[in-house]
Amino acid sequence: MSITTNIAMVRARIARAEAAAGREPGSVTLQLAAKYQPLDRLHEAVATGCTCFGHNIVAQLVESTQGLAGTGALTHTVIGPVQSNKLRAAMDHAERIDTVDSVKEAMRIARRQETRIEEGLADGPYPILIQVNSARAATQSGCAPEELIDIAAAIAELDLVRVDGLMTIGANTDDKGLVRASFGLTRSLSEEMRKLPGLEGAEELSMGMTGDMEIAVAEGSTLVRVGTAVFGARPRP
Ligand SMILES: *Cc1c(COP(=O)(O)O)cnc(C)c1O
Repeated sequence: MSITTNIAMVRARIARAEAAAGREPGSVTLQLAAKYQPLDRLHEAVATGCTCFGHNIVAQLVESTQGLAGTGALTHTVIGPVQSNKLRAAMDHAERIDTVDSVKEAMRIARRQETRIEEGLADGPYPILIQVNSARAATQSGCAPEELIDIAAAIAELDLVRVDGLMTIGANTDDKGLVRASFGLTRSLSEEMRKLPGLEGAEELSMGMTGDMEIAVAEGSTLVRVGTAVFGARPRP
């Protein structure tokens, strides 16, 4: 199957899920998970109208943004953990970091953003999503669900970081009930978080991947991160 065909199929899945959930057509953005994909495959995705990419690897983020420059208005976000020595490159090349899970990390971003503003590279707060470990999986990053509200309140005090919403991976299992519960928990945390001063507009809810995007859309996702359904099984690094 070509990438073009696969993208059309994924878009149809999203549209059906939106309709089934009684949601507005187009209320869910398709983000392509780009990890380990060579640049020509990303070019093909752009040619079909995809504009939103998620990167786990900062080096690939840098290569992709440079390689795709001039192909249109694209949005690249970071969807994997960022080591502190990669933070500068991540912020210079991504429009948002979607995996912030501590106040400490947000403070590092705020400090770096201050420098970026001094250097003329930016002129406002840097956007982030807070990652929640909604399934309490030992293998996943993200703050514990019960810590989210305190962390969000503390980050909201930082002038140079803007919280746009939440991101979660969710339960990695065939048990649809557990997957739904982890997304439902993230959605209710998002609603609670948006009662905090300054976070009323933090509506982005990045959840759902190839295997569980329908459940995520039913539970209120605004952004699904899809790799396998578009690119096929991932090449090994
Ligand atoms: C790789 C990846 C995805 C895409 O997963 P697929 O199952 O291949 O669609 C989504 N989110 C994150 C954080 C990823 O690392």
